[in-house]
Amino acid sequence: MSDTVTRLAQTRAAIARAARDFDREPESVTLIAVSKTMPAEVIIPVLEAGQRVFGENYVQEAKAKWPGLKARFPDAQVQMIGPLQSNKAKEAVELFDAIHSLDRESLAKELSREIGRSGRAPTLYVQVNTGDEPQKGGVSPAEIDAFLESCRVHHGLVIEGLMCIPPAEDPPSPHFALLAKIAARHGLRGLSMGMSADYEAAIQLGATHVRVGSAIFGARG
Ligand SMILES: *Cc1c(COP(=O)(O)O)cnc(C)c1O
Repeated sequence: MSDTVTRLAQTRAAIARAARDFDREPESVTLIAVSKTMPAEVIIPVLEAGQRVFGENYVQEAKAKWPGLKARFPDAQVQMIGPLQSNKAKEAVELFDAIHSLDRESLAKELSREIGRSGRAPTLYVQVNTGDEPQKGGVSPAEIDAFLESCRVHHGLVIEGLMCIPPAEDPPSPHFALLAKIAARHGLRGLSMGMSADYEAAIQLGATHVRVGSAIFGARG
């Protein structure tokens, strides 16, 4: 077995353990294997080991890798977790099964248009900038209620849940708890939170989707 496949199995076991520790069903947590920067030949063994949900950060990279991989593994899903430019909305709707980085009006408008035009509807998560970091994407917690309302009322979008990336220098749990609280207030089921370093804490606080890259694929170059 390759190191990557071993680490995938270890990650799956750790997710199941964390779920049970916090009285949750292991199946209630979806592992998104974050394969950004990894070439197809590194991803294929992970697909062969049964992993079906993957995360990517760049439209062009996903477009180069995934149509070929999906031809071989038709039930594989690829989800957009990185920042998305509005002018890439069309390609994103064509390529991705879910988008985790909806965070502004212009993007909501373009996604709504492309979903209407194509008949394809990726599952949508709104990214929340829980630490109000100026350099980071996401809707400020102060503006999230209005933004969710606008997605629904003005753009006719169905929002599955919320996503966050806590500030690197903060303990992550208060950010996960804040995201869970906002989601509960809006009756949103999906919580995309937790990465290699903190997915167990995210599972404790209700994550339905954890986005794990380096713990499976190793450090990115
Ligand atoms: C790269 C990335 C991840 C995975 O990070 P790791 O620390 O390698 O697990 C998760 N979420 C987002 C938004 C990312 O950009």
